This record gives sequence, structure tokens and C-alpha cells, in this order.
Amino acid sequence: MNIKNNKKIKLKLIKNFTNNYTWILYKKNNCVIVDPGEYKKILHIIKLYKLYPKLILLTHYHYDHMMAVNSLLSIWPKIKIISPKNIYYINKKEQINFFYILKEKIFGKSIKIINTPGHALYHVCYYISNYLFCGDLLFNSGCGKIYNNLYYEMYKSIQKIKSLPQNTLICCGHDYIKYNLIFTMKIIPNDKFVKNFYKKIKKSNKETINSLKIEKKINLFLKTSNFYLRKQLSKKEILKPFECFCLLRKMRNVF
Ligand SMILES: [Zn+2]
Repeated sequence: MNIKNNKKIKLKLIKNFTNNYTWILYKKNNCVIVDPGEYKKILHIIKLYKLYPKLILLTHYHYDHMMAVNSLLSIWPKIKIISPKNIYYINKKEQINFFYILKEKIFGKSIKIINTPGHALYHVCYYISNYLFCGDLLFNSGCGKIYNNLYYEMYKSIQKIKSLPQNTLICCGHDYIKYNLIFTMKIIPNDKFVKNFYKKIKKSNKETINSLKIEKKINLFLKTSNFYLRKQLSKKEILKPFECFCLLRKMRNVF
């Protein structure tokens, strides 16, 4: 799948393993690789498009998001790598609260880093132009699993994403959109927008990249401050947004 968002910067999505997404952002012959999973598939695209990898961005340290790093480095030893821990290293004196902007630019655009623990303690998102590479923080109509009980961290991380521009394109690390929408319809069965969206997606075999504006309509984890949702999910008192978030994530775990 190729996405032309900017006249010169293009995005290529590579499906790897069963449902992982590796992203290649490129301009002319230079490229950035986000979360490189399956080496052979990535190499195939790099050669096909005659690209030269300048930079690897890692959202977190799960093997399926970084398995191709060593193989890529063995061919292009000068590739720079930006990953959560070396961001902490650069910035160790102050915690990254919202945007940490790297001095380094790519294709003339700044690389903004958002600290987003939750799925993993060391997890960041990268915002370049209006692309958000969000790893396993947010998925289409869903969010990543939470390990080590980092519920509050995950909740806070998702709140940060909500304040990005509406036209932000959500480039996630996996895709479970159909199943996530079925879950969403179970929770909010009367939502016509979600129903229609599911109908459209069900027929299509294409990968989906949604804007933040659309995700806010179809993603329950971005709706946890919604009064009706909080009321509907509670047996007694109306849930607080964070309680609503935890409950939804636990329900999704066993769905
Ligand atoms: Zn992960």
C-alpha cells in the first residue's frame, strides 16, 4: 500500500509476520524504516524502490518490531537508530513529558517524539509531518495490550495522542481492525457511524490508515471521557474516564 500525503514524502506499508506493520517513509532515494520486523520483506522493498536507509525508528523493544535491525545494519552500518532508551539517554536530565523534538530532521521535517509508556515501559511514538508512528500504543479502533499493570501510564499516553491535529494519520504496529470494530459494536451497538464503518471495512481487503478524526469516532479507547459510555458501562455510579478505560481494556482482553 502506498500513501501519498505530501508531494515528495511517500509512505509504504509492509505487512510482516502475521499482522505486523513495518513502515517506510521515503523521499527520492532516502528512507526511514519504522519498526523493522521481517528482514527479507523489507529488503525486497528497499531494492525495488532503490532506497537508501538513513534512519531506523523503534517504538519499543518487542522482537516483532525490531527483528530486522541487525541484518539491516550489516548491510548499511551507517544507519542511525532512534529508540526509546537512547531518547532517554539524550534527555536523561528531564523526563519527556509531551513532545521531545530531535535536533535531527528528516526530509526537512522535524521528528517529534512522544513518550508513551503503557504497552511497554519504554515505548515512544514518532510524529513526522502528519504521520504518527504509534507502535503498539493505538491500533485501528483499538489499543495495544498492557503489560506489567501499566494501565495508568497507557491511559495517560493515549490522552496525549488525542491532542494531536485531527488530520494526523495513525500508522500503527499491528492491525486488528475488523475484530476491534466487532468489539466496538458490542459495546456501542447503536452507533451508526461505527456500523457503517464496519460495513465498508468488511468488504475491503485493503489496509486501513485512519485519521485521528476518524479514530475518535470508532475507537473506544479514545472515547473514555464520553459521558454515555461511562454511564452505560457502570452498574452503580458513573465511571471515571480512567475506570472506563481499564474496564474496556479488560473486556477486550477476554473478548
Ligand atoms: Zn509490542
